[in-house]
Amino acid sequence: MTYILAIDQGTTSSRAIVFRADCSIAATAQQEFPQHFPQSGWVEHDPEDIWRTVLATSREAIDNAGLAPRSIAAIGIANQRETALVWDRTTGKPIHNAIVWQDRRTAELCRRLKEAGREPEVAARTGLLLDPYFSASKIAWLIDHVPGARARAECGELAFGTVDSFLLWRLTAGAVHATDATNASRTALYDIHTNTWSDELCALFGVPRAILPEVRDCAADYGATAPHLFGAAIPIRGIAGDQQAALIGQACFMPDMMKSTYGTGCFAILNTGATAVKSRHRLLSTIAYRLDGDTTYGLEGAIFIAGAAVQWLRDGLRLLPSSSAASAMAGAADPGQNVILVPAFVGLGAPHWDPEARGALFGLTRSTGPNELARAALESVCFQTLDLLDAMRADCRDNDCGALAGTVLRVDGGMVASDWTMQRLADIIGAPVDRPTVLETTALGAAYLAGLQSGLYPEPQAFAARWALDRRFAPAMDDTTRSRKIAGWRDAVGRTLSAGRSPR
Ligand code: ADP
Repeated sequence: MTYILAIDQGTTSSRAIVFRADCSIAATAQQEFPQHFPQSGWVEHDPEDIWRTVLATSREAIDNAGLAPRSIAAIGIANQRETALVWDRTTGKPIHNAIVWQDRRTAELCRRLKEAGREPEVAARTGLLLDPYFSASKIAWLIDHVPGARARAECGELAFGTVDSFLLWRLTAGAVHATDATNASRTALYDIHTNTWSDELCALFGVPRAILPEVRDCAADYGATAPHLFGAAIPIRGIAGDQQAALIGQACFMPDMMKSTYGTGCFAILNTGATAVKSRHRLLSTIAYRLDGDTTYGLEGAIFIAGAAVQWLRDGLRLLPSSSAASAMAGAADPGQNVILVPAFVGLGAPHWDPEARGALFGLTRSTGPNELARAALESVCFQTLDLLDAMRADCRDNDCGALAGTVLRVDGGMVASDWTMQRLADIIGAPVDRPTVLETTALGAAYLAGLQSGLYPEPQAFAARWALDRRFAPAMDDTTRSRKIAGWRDAVGRTLSAGRSPR
């Protein structure tokens, strides 16, 4: 019983990773599943696809590690956040496809509530904004659009859950209806200060209290798998939303530590300790983790397009043979050209939150070629990170919780394979960038929670001591160049924002 199984249920694929007692990886398995786009701006997942791929990859990872299921001490779950499911408590069958976090169908409801002046109340209780991104409006849509669902929800026949909660229900054959504090904090129904579901917010969104799961610590007893699933009852001992799991996997347990994950998009979370920072710069305040009843908060910023800018050059414009070619091309770009890409392909996220903005390229000349565009794409990720950090710094100053002095950024995700980008990131943010040896930080975070609860993994401080650096990128750009580049970016963003918006 010296292995942990981490389930990492993501937006496009489900992964399972078996970790050894020393937190090294014994085996992995991964399966993609279909995305459904029933209308423009709508994104759904078939819950049975989620369940099927989680079960299959979990079995495969255990097999690949050459283990009997009883060698697994515990399971930890990390999951795509905010995605909403409602199912029948008797049959376990969802009443509709899952509404995915990217789905915008509830924009109208959110806008109405915003116009009615309700955003400050939502922000004060939840640390979030009034946006379709979060679960509450999606739950309301589900129970209002599936015939008969509202009445059944009100009399307790239906259950709501984010993906972790749905998986837990299925894994325990309906014995446990629970979630963890990090996932609860993304619903817009959970008061992150009192750590309770808010009756006021349930009333605001029209969500019956009876369908909500019980909220537990991230490392907790979540029951055990039904024996027929794996041939043994495996305890489930950890849950966290994927970005919070990455923060844990990066061992950012002290205030002022932060991680940034560079995949399709980028999500940065700063640990703000026991303080839930009230953001005045349109970042999200969220629960970073809750251990032994103690809540640690985080300040979060999301960038929609990071690696996706590289994908666009590769698949859309066909200027790159592969994502990994971008670095060498950027390195060969003409230093005399100042090409800037503002990748507002789907609007701009934090701290601008401008859904109407669309992407733009600046500084083109007749000698601009693929190399300059590759550099512009990679640099856009660095500049956007700087904008997030500046907003975090300003929020921290306003809240008297330190000014992020001496911050080191711990990075992970597919894009951090690019040394060029990581060096440029350090140069632009003017702070060191640390890339760990283990890049599977999301799964590691989930495994850590389960391992901690089952006594296999050490306390946070000892786990943090195991975090190993692959490479530190130290800022090396001269101040004049840095200031010139940042000024160029700010000007470009200012000109990209939609009408009536001013740069933040
Ligand atoms: P996700 O989990 O969002 O699917 P990943 O963490 O797997 O994303 O990262 C994939 C993203 O990273 C893709 O957008 C890809 O273009 C980008 N990427 C991968 N390798 C490199 C590289 N060497 N240089 C630049 N970008 C890269």
